[in-house]
Amino acid sequence: MKIICIGQNYEDHIKELNSNRPEEPLIFLKPDSSVLPKKNPFIIPPFTNDVHYEIEVLIKINKVGKFIGQKFAHKYYDDIGLGIDFTARDLQTKLKKAGHPWEKAKGFDGSAIISPFFSKKTFTDVNEINFSLAKNGKLVQVGSTKDMIFKIDELVAYVSQFFTLKKGDIIFTGTPAGVGSVDKNDVLTGFLEDKKVIDIKIK
Ligand code: ZN
Repeated sequence: MKIICIGQNYEDHIKELNSNRPEEPLIFLKPDSSVLPKKNPFIIPPFTNDVHYEIEVLIKINKVGKFIGQKFAHKYYDDIGLGIDFTARDLQTKLKKAGHPWEKAKGFDGSAIISPFFSKKTFTDVNEINFSLAKNGKLVQVGSTKDMIFKIDELVAYVSQFFTLKKGDIIFTGTPAGVGSVDKNDVLTGFLEDKKVIDIKIK
């Protein structure tokens, strides 16, 4: 199983990063070892002093596909979930500046939080899913997939030009504004529509 992540897919987040709107989806990968096992706390790794949360809508690929046409992309996923793309922002900034790959800052152990998945049929429209993240009970990120620059079907089609998608692969579709750092003893709760699907303690 592989995890494909999309960076800078919401205008308001691009602004807060002082970045520019990408002309094509920006892709990076997380290894399967980045998935935090269920019920485990997230432990801040020793190589960073600035871990950021990024709440994102996830899709799970249901069959093999390559060069998928955008029109057919919807046939390649049935399930929607919620995730946190933990990012060592200080390390990422350093790597970006040096022109180096981001993987250490984005793919470290425990950096991928993955909620249970729900049939896409439970949502009225995959391009209008509301989601949010609260830190210690206070809402910090609120998003809707309607604000994505590149929509889910575009992402599936685009990604499949470079990587054969396989059953069980997960796509993190990007984060809206409001990213911020976590400290020991913080609690993060993630909501897909009004359902709490992520509840995670920081250690
Ligand atoms: Zn992200």
